[in-house]
This record gives sequence, structure tokens and C-alpha cells, in this order.
Amino acid sequence: MSHQANPAEVALPIPGCSDSPVNQERGQRAVFCGLTSIIWLHRKIQDAFFLVVGSRTCAHLIQSAAGVMIFAEPRFATAVLQDRDLAGMADCNEELDRVVDQVVQRRPDIRTLFLVGSCPSEVIKLDLANAAQRLSERYAGRVRIAEYSGSGIETTFTQGEDNCLKGLVATLPKAPAENRSLLIVGSLPDIVEDQFLRLFEQLGIGPVHFFPARKSDGLPAVGPGTAFLLAQPYLGETARALLKRGAHALSAPFPLGAEGTHDWLRAAADAWEIAPDQFEAAVAAPLARAERAVARQREALDGKRISFLPDSQLEIPLARFLHRECGMQLVEIGTPYLDQQLSAAELALLPDGPRLTEGQDLDVQLDRVRNDRPDLTVCGLGIANPLEAEGLRTKWSIELMFTPIHGFDQAGDLAELFVRPLNRQSRLRF
Ligand code: SF4
Repeated sequence: MSHQANPAEVALPIPGCSDSPVNQERGQRAVFCGLTSIIWLHRKIQDAFFLVVGSRTCAHLIQSAAGVMIFAEPRFATAVLQDRDLAGMADCNEELDRVVDQVVQRRPDIRTLFLVGSCPSEVIKLDLANAAQRLSERYAGRVRIAEYSGSGIETTFTQGEDNCLKGLVATLPKAPAENRSLLIVGSLPDIVEDQFLRLFEQLGIGPVHFFPARKSDGLPAVGPGTAFLLAQPYLGETARALLKRGAHALSAPFPLGAEGTHDWLRAAADAWEIAPDQFEAAVAAPLARAERAVARQREALDGKRISFLPDSQLEIPLARFLHRECGMQLVEIGTPYLDQQLSAAELALLPDGPRLTEGQDLDVQLDRVRNDRPDLTVCGLGIANPLEAEGLRTKWSIELMFTPIHGFDQAGDLAELFVRPLNRQSRLRF
């Protein structure tokens, strides 16, 4: 369980926002904590190690969620700090130093070590920022030690990445004002990054950098000449940290589906003053391929009713894609946290009618799902099984974090992810 991030301290200069009424709900919640994001972050940053400073519960979560996917030596672990009172805090720091030393000695390939905070009271009492500072000095020139919180009290599962990247922004080198560049913000699979890079090259947009970078020594420089495009909708704190560094945000829908990807690329093309016909010519072939791939899935989705329970913050872009490109009817779009400024371009594309809900009151929300009986409910793992047992078809939202879904070449696969549970239902019927 977790509560919401703090409201924005720095306003994003993104114009407009939807007039759709947003129902705020506060009550019991059922979401994974931010530690979960280690699973995709450790794949993305190939020379990073994630040391969770937590309890046995945290170790269990990480091992059961990520363990099945690891075939090489893992780049995450848990330093279990439990059953200590305040008087034992000095021991906690010693213990932490000992574990960090062990990791650094054993893994000479590691260039960044993240200390990841969690919820247990022993960890909350520990000053991880200080610990990171102390250890950074000890290992200067060898390993960068950073820290962030993945605590379930502060974060939903995607907000772990936001916290991680927000912390890294402070370490990005300073770019001179005259150095113009495009920064793509948010973890994407390497294959998707490579596809985007080719498109930006064809369009004549560059230099383009990705954040986070695949390697610790590839951190992009940032400054007033940096324009950034968010690839993921849950990075509000990172966006605000980049604004404070002088970068400016480009407003666009997120690159999910043919339309979202087209509009996202166009935002960069507009900023680089590329003529509209030149842009359309450059994206015509992949756009047509994406539209054909989505059309092949549309028949199974057209007219079907869908509800989203709050989980990943991807709910609004997914709802936009499934409605506008796949013909689905939106019943309810629940999201754990709605940043109206970051989502302005998405909200403008949503139809009137669906309930828009921010936050969660689990029982009330489940009652609405039972009452609505949508054809498909997108929700967290823990809620899916009980709904399935009641004859409701579900889609795990966390699956969307582990599958390449961004960009033209993945648009058909994205639609197919929602077709599969519906097909399963028809197979069960006959
Ligand atoms: S950080 Fe908190 S919510 Fe997450 S596994 Fe550890 S104890 Fe549980």
C-alpha cells in the first residue's frame, strides 16, 4: 500500500488541461510498492546494482517478483535491517557499510550502486542520503553511490523509477546553453530506443540522448538547450527536476499506439522546425505498418467495455489508445495519481463519458466493477484472481511494464495484449 506523491512544487509549462471532472478517492489501496521498479531498472542500467535496505518482506517481494527472470548473476539484493531500536542505529550503518563493501569487492563491473529505501521503521530512521554521501567518498572514482526511496508508504510501483531518476538528475553533467539536444526520459527496452533513434535520425533531429542511459558513464548532459520528451507518464518529479536544471518540456501524448507515437514524434519535429510534409513523409511507412497491425486486432476489441483500476499511471494513455484506435468503450479510468499538466495532451484526446478517478478506495471501486461488469478490467495482480473468480476478465497492468509496448512497431502487440484475455474467455465458453 502507499499514499500519493507530493503536489508539484514547480509548475510544468505545458498548456491546457482537460475539463473532465476527476473523482478523488481516498481509502484502502492495493498496489505494489516502488521496489518493483528495480526489476526493469536493473535491466536498463546495465552496470548498476540495486541494494534494497529493508526487511525480509522486501527481500521476499524482490526475489519472488524478479527471481524468475534472472538467468545471470543478479544485480540486486536486500540488506535486511530488522528488529533494531534507536540505540542500534550505529550498528545499522556498520551493517550497511559491510554489505556495500561486499558488493563492491565482489562485483568490479558495477559502476553505480543504488541504496533503495523501504518502509520498515528501522530503515526510515536510517539517513540513507548521509550513508550514500559517506560511501560515495569512500568509493570515489570507482563506484557512484546513489539513493532513493522505493517505500510503499511513498510510492506506487512505477513511482520507484520516478524517485530513482529524480535523484540522478542532480548528477547529470551541465550542458552549455548553446548545446541543443533532445532527451527522451523514462526506461524503454533497448530495441525500442534503437527504433526511435533511427526515426529521429531520419527526421534530422539530434543529438538524442536517453535517460536513464544504458551505462553509468553515459549520463546525458543537461542545460537550457535541452528539450525533453517523457516516454512514460509517471515521471512528474523527474520532469520537475529537469526543469530546475534549465531543460524545457515538450508536450505530447505518450508514444503508445500509432497515433500516440505519431504525435509524440511530431512534438520533437515541431521543436526542431521540421516542415509538416517532411515529417509525414518520414513517418508514413512505420505509421501505416502500425495502423495495419492495430487493425488486425481491432475486431476483437471493437465495442468491448473496459475499466482500469489505479495501478501503473499508464491508465490514461492506454485508455486513449484502446478507445481511439481499437474502438473500446471506456467505463472507468482509475489512476493512482493524475498529473494534469503531464497528462494534458492525453486528456484532450479522451472522449466525454468515462468516469475518471484519482486515488483508490478499493472496496467501493470493486463494487463499481461488479456493477458495471466490463468485458475487461485492467488491474493489479492481487485483485485479478478474485475478479476472475467472479467471471470477470482481467489484464495485469504490471505485464505492460515488462513488455515492449512503445512505438510504431509495438502498436499491434500492445493491442494484442488486450485481445488475449478476451480470447481466453471465448475459448473457455466453447
Ligand atoms: S518497501 Fe514496504 S511495501 Fe515494499 S516490500 Fe518492503 S515493507 Fe513491503
